[in-house]
Amino acid sequence: MNTTELETMIRTILSEKMGQQGVAASSGSSALFSDVDSAVKAARAAYESYMQCSLQTRRDIISKIRSELEPLIPQMSEDAARETGMGNAADKILKNRAALLNTPGVEDLTTIALTGDNGMTLFELSPFGVIGAIAPSTNPTETIMNNCISMLAAGNAVYFSPHPGAKNVSLCLIEKIEHIIFDVCGIRNLVVSVSEPTFAATQEMMAHPDIAVLAVTGGPAIVNMAMKSGKKTIGAGAGNPPCIVDETACMRKAAKDIINGASLDYNVPCIAEKSVIVVDCVADELISCMVNYGALLVKNPADVVKLRNTVINEKGDANKKFIGKSPAVIAKAAGLQCEFEPKIIIVEVPKDDLLVMVEQLMPVLPIVRVSDFDTALELALVVEQGLHHTAIMHSENVSRLNKAAKMMQTSIFVKNGPSYAGISVGGEGFTTFTIATPTGEGTTSAKTFARSRRCVLTNGFSIR
Ligand code: NAD
Repeated sequence: MNTTELETMIRTILSEKMGQQGVAASSGSSALFSDVDSAVKAARAAYESYMQCSLQTRRDIISKIRSELEPLIPQMSEDAARETGMGNAADKILKNRAALLNTPGVEDLTTIALTGDNGMTLFELSPFGVIGAIAPSTNPTETIMNNCISMLAAGNAVYFSPHPGAKNVSLCLIEKIEHIIFDVCGIRNLVVSVSEPTFAATQEMMAHPDIAVLAVTGGPAIVNMAMKSGKKTIGAGAGNPPCIVDETACMRKAAKDIINGASLDYNVPCIAEKSVIVVDCVADELISCMVNYGALLVKNPADVVKLRNTVINEKGDANKKFIGKSPAVIAKAAGLQCEFEPKIIIVEVPKDDLLVMVEQLMPVLPIVRVSDFDTALELALVVEQGLHHTAIMHSENVSRLNKAAKMMQTSIFVKNGPSYAGISVGGEGFTTFTIATPTGEGTTSAKTFARSRRCVLTNGFSIR
């Protein structure tokens, strides 16, 4: 028997042994537990085994996750759209593919070495332990795949709290990922959840002593709750991305990019353009290009009122019934005449309109006319509300682009492209579905989910 064969045999025996332990711990169904405490404890035990694995094992796990899940994406996307009643399968395929194939793995963990007369100091990125990851209903499977790859690459185990409204598709995915991990390295329960994900379960998880870090992707309520938990929190909260268009931009390209960005998955992505702020002298041209590109323009004042009353409820919040619904469904509900299948609904409104200030998550794009670029930037700051999320700008003026990028202080700033270029769909860089806004990590990846540790060797290993 040669070395490779011997190694394979040992691996198989170890896999089976560890697998049996894991199944016993999970009382039957691996990955999904009947209670939070058992799930977290099983993930903690799995983490301790995972700590002994090589970086190559982590790479192998991620590579298998990508290859095994890729063929399942069309079905997963359809299931997510059907179960949540939000967005559409075709766009979800695009988002899921980006999450699965373009989230960086172990290569994201770079070591820094300092050497000198006093020796060598290393800064290494090591795991936290079990991460409590909370996923939204708007990108349920995208967030799970993206978080899984990032967190496992950094050496962690993960407890997922999926949104109850996306329970079936999320739990099915978590189980599949858990099985893939087991197949590769023989460790059970590295990714877990509970079979009934409820808000109460999420709260219990947040308070569990074996949860080392919280990674929360969702609205302001849950992010604030996590930040008060006393645990380290990576908080990816709400946004309200404004899109500035000045008179130097190419209007045809701006119109096309804005519609593509704002209509993606019926505008549920947190990064999608939520309003347009355009300089007056080019506003008519921009609107006409948007209409040519498939937007339904609502102009009649009575129709504008009907649209607003449909989209925003009496409390001044987004009407949940229409979050992530198609433009056709929203137009019909608002009693608007439309002879074609619109890509998006556009409407000109004053700057303080609720349609501008409320994160609707619907394919209804308010447009505000302003006198000049400086006024546009001033308004964009108000609309973004200091959420540090995303802003977009179309302009050929480099100084203005630079000024806006600096002033907006958003985690993502896209210049002359659709918003989704900011998560690398048609833009350079890697993909993320957890953009840590209030806590400041920005576009998260493996290194965000790792602890920086300093390892010092005195008097040696400097060979300069
Ligand atoms: P949500 O806040 O309703 O839910 C997010 C998660 O929090 C879910 O898992 C849900 O179960 C949990 N949750 C919510 N309220 C809870 C409670 N009271 N107790 C315990 N758990 C609770 O968000 P959503 O509607 O699913 O997603 C949309 C929101 O998320 C938008 O505001 C969007 O901007 C934001 N979002 C942000 C990012 C980002 O990367 N910054 C990404 C996607 C979505």
